[in-house]
Amino acid sequence: MKNKVRWFRSINTKIVFVIVVLLIFALELIGANFINQLEQQWVTNFQEERQTQVDFLETTTAPYLTAAFNNTAADGEVDPEAEINSLLSEFTGSGIAEVQVINPDLFIIGTSDSTQQSVVGRLSNDADVRQSLLLEDTITRQYVDSATGNRRWKVVTPVFSSNDPTQLVGIILMESNIESVYEQVTQISFIFVNSSLLAIALSVLLANIVSRALTTPIKEMQQQTLSIAEGDYSGKLKVYSEDELGHLALSINDLSNKVATAQESIDAERRRLDSVLTHMTDGVIATDRRGRVIIINEMGRKMLNVVEEEVLGQNILELLGLEEELTLRKLLEKQEDLLIDATTTEETLVLRASFSLIQGDSGFIRGIVCVLHDVTEQERIEQDRREFVSNVSHELRTPLTSMRSYIEALNDGAWQDPEIAPRFLEVTQNETDRMIRMIQDLLHLSRIDAGKSDLELEIADLTELFAHVLSRFDMLVHSSEYESKTYSIKRELLEDPVWVEIDADRIIQVLDNIMNNAIKYSPDGGVITGRMEKRGDQVVISISDQGMGIPKADLQKVFSRFYRVDRARSRAMGGSGLGLAISKEVVEQHGGRIWAESTEGTGTTFYVSLPYVQFEEEEWE
Ligand code: ADP
Repeated sequence: MKNKVRWFRSINTKIVFVIVVLLIFALELIGANFINQLEQQWVTNFQEERQTQVDFLETTTAPYLTAAFNNTAADGEVDPEAEINSLLSEFTGSGIAEVQVINPDLFIIGTSDSTQQSVVGRLSNDADVRQSLLLEDTITRQYVDSATGNRRWKVVTPVFSSNDPTQLVGIILMESNIESVYEQVTQISFIFVNSSLLAIALSVLLANIVSRALTTPIKEMQQQTLSIAEGDYSGKLKVYSEDELGHLALSINDLSNKVATAQESIDAERRRLDSVLTHMTDGVIATDRRGRVIIINEMGRKMLNVVEEEVLGQNILELLGLEEELTLRKLLEKQEDLLIDATTTEETLVLRASFSLIQGDSGFIRGIVCVLHDVTEQERIEQDRREFVSNVSHELRTPLTSMRSYIEALNDGAWQDPEIAPRFLEVTQNETDRMIRMIQDLLHLSRIDAGKSDLELEIADLTELFAHVLSRFDMLVHSSEYESKTYSIKRELLEDPVWVEIDADRIIQVLDNIMNNAIKYSPDGGVITGRMEKRGDQVVISISDQGMGIPKADLQKVFSRFYRVDRARSRAMGGSGLGLAISKEVVEQHGGRIWAESTEGTGTTFYVSLPYVQFEEEEWE
């Protein structure tokens, strides 16, 4: 916003301008009228005065002119012409230029102008005199004297005989200098113009003062409203007077307070909203009517791995990578949840996006809110569940199908064959055993999953426990189970007892399982090495074989439920693929860890680490 008002646009200038124009207008009107009236009045007065003088002269000269006309002047009486001349000689000054008395024969009888006495007795060649004589009427005329350029007033009037009013006995011609009247009027006008200019100058000054008194508070108010607009509510306007401007200033102060309060509550609200959005564990994206992102919270940015500045204004479908399968219209119509794969090279991430509309009271759509919920874990669990069901069904179907075919064969008459029947029955029994084992394993796992498998902890000597397990396998080498294998067991145990707090049966089960695998997956048996060592606060048991090994890619997976590197082989060995999964759960229940290292074709080593109890020396004493 522009702060500065150009001087010619300011109220100040306008007020001064209006006042001056009004004043000039008024002065002009009054002046013109006044001067005009004055001029008229003075000119009329002048003319009337001259007329009166002419009338006076007419009456005074009439007897002499009559006498002269009739030539009746008795001896001893005064000479009429001399009388007229003496009368005329008094008519000088006061604007009169010249008075002539002319007889009906147009001879000039006398003149008031002493310098012009030579014209007496001459014939007058004045046109107005002739005309007056002809019309027997007074003629008045204003004209400009070509010699001086002055205006002159001329009165020509016939004089009638004092005895016979119809008898014209002479003409009086009066020339007067009316210019002086005009000069006076011009002088008055001059004075008037001067005073007017002074008045205007004064009024400019006054108008300036008055308008400044008006504009100063207005300017302050403008400044204050600018400050309010810029968010500064601290200023207070000074109230100069109790008038409208004063009230306006009060209102602006009031407004400033109210805006400040409103702004404060908006800010507080925004902060609250911000903190809610920031601390939400879900991602939140809000868009405008056209689907352009206007808000995205921290979680949302983290989930989508984006920077705020880059996504603001971006289309939400583009942001979510849905622009190919979906249009904004469809999204608005359906508003159904969508699964979004936001997996990056670093982590797997599956998001559920729920959409809802922001609508005005009239139903007008203002924007969309999208909530992103991390469902990776849920999806993984769901996936595991599906896999589990499919695995279990598969694992059960295989022995059941095989059993069914044996039973069918028996049913079809094989039962009578003393050679085949016992073999078939043995196979069915083995399959049944395997199923029972598997179901027991599954039940065991499900108990662990449900947290119902409590450990019966006791302090045991792991060295002794491991030695015991190994000894048992020494014996088993000759048993029917491993009759085809010739393995030997090497021991690299610790000499001292290592005390661990364990559920001995379970740990034995784990070690059995690893030992069993070592034998199972070593075609020729070979040497199995059992080691023990202490690493920090952990005791690590390792069992190495010289078997077929496990491919690197499968090293982690062998601990998953039902996972087997070579399905057919493992099943042939009677494995269910649950042994290591259970072992892992059990070891972890003990706060330990299980892992494997392997070189394909050379052998595998399984490690189990458990925390051991470090007794203080004194406790033994
Ligand atoms: P199974 O009952 O099939 O043995 P486990 O959970 O005990 O199930 O083992 C999972 C898989 O790990 C086995 O099927 C096998 O492919 C592989 N495995 C386990 N131990 C060894 C080993 N010592 N050498 C080679 N492969 C092994």
